[in-house]
Amino acid sequence: MQRAILILFLLLLGSGPMILSEFHITLLNYIGLSALVALGVVLLTGVGGLTSFGQAAFVGLGAYATAYLTTATELPDWLAWAGGSPWIGLAAGLLLTAIVAWLLGALTLRLSGHYLPLGTIAWGISIYFLFGNLGFLGGHTGISGIPALELFGHELKSGRAFYYVIWVMLLAAVWITRNLLDSREGRAIRALKGGTVMAEAMGVDTARSKIIIFLIAALFAALSGWLYAHLQRFVNPTPFGLHIGIEYLFMAVVGGAANVWGALLGAGLITILKQWLQDLLPKIFGASGNFEMIVFGMMMVLVLQRARDGIWPILARLVPADHGSRTVPQGDALPRNVMPQASADILDVRNVFKRFGGLVANNNMSFTVRAGEVMALIGPNGAGKSTMFDCISGVGSVSEGEISFLGERIDSLTARAIARRGMSRTFQHVRLLPNMSVLENVAIGAHLRGTKGVLPATLHLERAEEQRLLAEAARQIERVGLKDSMFEQAGSLALGQQRTLEIARALAADPCLLLLDEPAAGLRYMEKQTLADLLRKLKTEGMGILLVEHDMDFVMGLADRVVVMEFGEKIAEGLPDEVQRDPAVLEAYLGGVE
Ligand code: ADP
Ligand code: MG
Repeated sequence: MQRAILILFLLLLGSGPMILSEFHITLLNYIGLSALVALGVVLLTGVGGLTSFGQAAFVGLGAYATAYLTTATELPDWLAWAGGSPWIGLAAGLLLTAIVAWLLGALTLRLSGHYLPLGTIAWGISIYFLFGNLGFLGGHTGISGIPALELFGHELKSGRAFYYVIWVMLLAAVWITRNLLDSREGRAIRALKGGTVMAEAMGVDTARSKIIIFLIAALFAALSGWLYAHLQRFVNPTPFGLHIGIEYLFMAVVGGAANVWGALLGAGLITILKQWLQDLLPKIFGASGNFEMIVFGMMMVLVLQRARDGIWPILARLVPADHGSRTVPQGDALPRNVMPQASADILDVRNVFKRFGGLVANNNMSFTVRAGEVMALIGPNGAGKSTMFDCISGVGSVSEGEISFLGERIDSLTARAIARRGMSRTFQHVRLLPNMSVLENVAIGAHLRGTKGVLPATLHLERAEEQRLLAEAARQIERVGLKDSMFEQAGSLALGQQRTLEIARALAADPCLLLLDEPAAGLRYMEKQTLADLLRKLKTEGMGILLVEHDMDFVMGLADRVVVMEFGEKIAEGLPDEVQRDPAVLEAYLGGVE
């Protein structure tokens, strides 16, 4: 059904110039140009969670680069070769935009919370004023006399002739974006929305993912600017100002920022509505003015109130989905890590302190974990177990002390670097992407076992590797007993199952040390048995397991050794039987609040 609608849409688009009036062709051209920018905003804001108000500035870079190069009569000597040709103008615009975006991204993407949007506003304004104040760009009057595009010997002088160029490029951009999102790199990008902690712990370079979507969004905007310049044959700073940047964001949000088609829908709705309101409102009010902006403002408030995800999801719900991709992925096994020698110490925590201001959450903690054993870390709530996990896995930093993993100091490494060395973990407070399927969530765990980058992903040239990654994820899902939920949204699972999903995700990384933070919480008796069996099996395969768990039957039946913590300190260590009889432990567990 969805496919049928898509084909119908493409047929209608394709026949546009044959049947539509000049006015409607122009409208569709402008919708296409805006949609290209809004598509970048969808990727950046809707998918990646990075809000940008400044995209119009990149449109301007693309437009001005070609405008300048194709019209300047006296180019500086070093640039003379680049004059005249719109195609060189395009290449120059994209290159210039990539450089500027990379610099701006490196400076602003590290900002968090509302500082990032503020940053985008700042550079959005600066670049806009730059256009108006540079003499060689014609100041506020702009640049005119931009040549028409030439394609296969035809000059594209009319909007009708330009139509296909715009829409073919837009649809190509949609295709590229969809391909990218449906790939290993795409999962890394989509994981950004869940915060960086989980993604980094799975080995994703989140700073890189952010720069990638920032660059792509900027390049789409620059391409739109290039098209605009050669369609309009004239540029001035006005369409590249901050208010237009806001409009692009507006399009993506109204259309539905989480879906590529939301960009087209939003661009279409806003452009048509704007056109219509510009005609209608001055007649109603009997005066000229930008009344449409007032209506837009109210509409935005309404959308945020009533349909936070935009209009696309509402439309999409009316159409039954195609369930083509619901077959369990099959593929060759990925190469495995070599497991360390049986019962060798793989993790060595030595005199570790972790302080939060005055609070000492880990106080002189020392213990080891061996290959092929389950080491349990127990203690009352607030004892510092999760903090210990964060220190070991690099999610948090160590205040003092040493941690070695496979004979190498890791206490100053990043979570990503530690993951790469063969450690994987789950989180006490589950960290997954609720709108992604169980399969995709688990596949994030296998991130480091793939190598194909963004370019092959955009063209889907990495399908063989992708298949193997997904097959690996599917195997781990089966292994933990979630096979029946593989294609469900992770957020729809019960909490206990979400924890189990995290175990599958950790296993997909092929770790030799697995850190499990309260994996049995929320599981039913039978599910706990299944989990215990799985952990026993992993152990015999040579994996080391560090386990935090409150269910004492579960712990004592499974653990080879136990470390007990209270108030950040180790109060006992030994075999399960010994620890259970230890007076200090009995005191901690029985003498306290319970
Ligand atoms: P457990 O996992 O054993 O229940 P935690 O490691 O979560 O305990 O917490 C240990 C102590 O550290 C608690 O007192 C907790 O409030 C404190 N703590 C944990 N994380 C932070 C943080 N980010 N900032 C300040 N205090 C923290
Ligand atoms: Mg905890």
